[in-house]
Amino acid sequence: MRLRNIPGSREAIAESQYVIHEEETRAGSWHEIFENDHPIYIEIGMGKGQFLMELARRNPDINYVGIEKYSSVLIRALEKMEEEETPLSNICFIRMDAEDIVKVFAKNEVDRIYLNFSDPWPKDRHAKRRLPSRQFLARYDVILKKEGTLEFKTDNRPLFDFAVEELEPAGWQAKVITYDLHSDAALMEGNVMTEYEEKFSSIGNPICKYIIFR
Ligand code: SAM
Repeated sequence: MRLRNIPGSREAIAESQYVIHEEETRAGSWHEIFENDHPIYIEIGMGKGQFLMELARRNPDINYVGIEKYSSVLIRALEKMEEEETPLSNICFIRMDAEDIVKVFAKNEVDRIYLNFSDPWPKDRHAKRRLPSRQFLARYDVILKKEGTLEFKTDNRPLFDFAVEELEPAGWQAKVITYDLHSDAALMEGNVMTEYEEKFSSIGNPICKYIIFR
């Protein structure tokens, strides 16, 4: 995603009621933050939040946390939140690098993790920065409940092949793997398109998806 500094975005994020600040978070406190005991689903690298906000509209009994590294991107999600006719009370955001995810969620605190169109980091020496890498899978292993699942979608075939190869060494297994999600009627049931999914499927790129567990 090309990034442009947006003047005022840091200040707007600091003041937003929808943002939980990394320094304010305490692993294990998410049910207190949402004031209920509903399941917690997170999207890492959520971009402008289209996917997670649609899930939040459809599933009021699930709590959603969107994680995004850049203020200039997160601010777009906050703008969309302000436009909602009925304010969503089951979603919030954190601006942070997901490398520190285990500081923000406790062991077994998260019920599901979504990764969508994660940055590919094509150079081999940057492999550990890829969100489906074994280094990140080890972090997800800590915060995800034992029966929890992780869902990953991308149109980037080399990144997807890498992600599939990482599963066994990291101790995860695939429940579902498809290399053409949009041609699979059963898997498309209830599919919520991300912003990148709309963009890349509209130019004919097949969308890969896995659902994994351990
Ligand atoms: N998930 C959205 C979608 O499918 O439309 C956005 C995809 S965009 C290509 C990837 C997003 O992940 C960017 O907004 C980027 O800033 C964010 N990101 C990449 N690495 C991250 C990290 N380590 N921690 C948090 N966010 C990250």
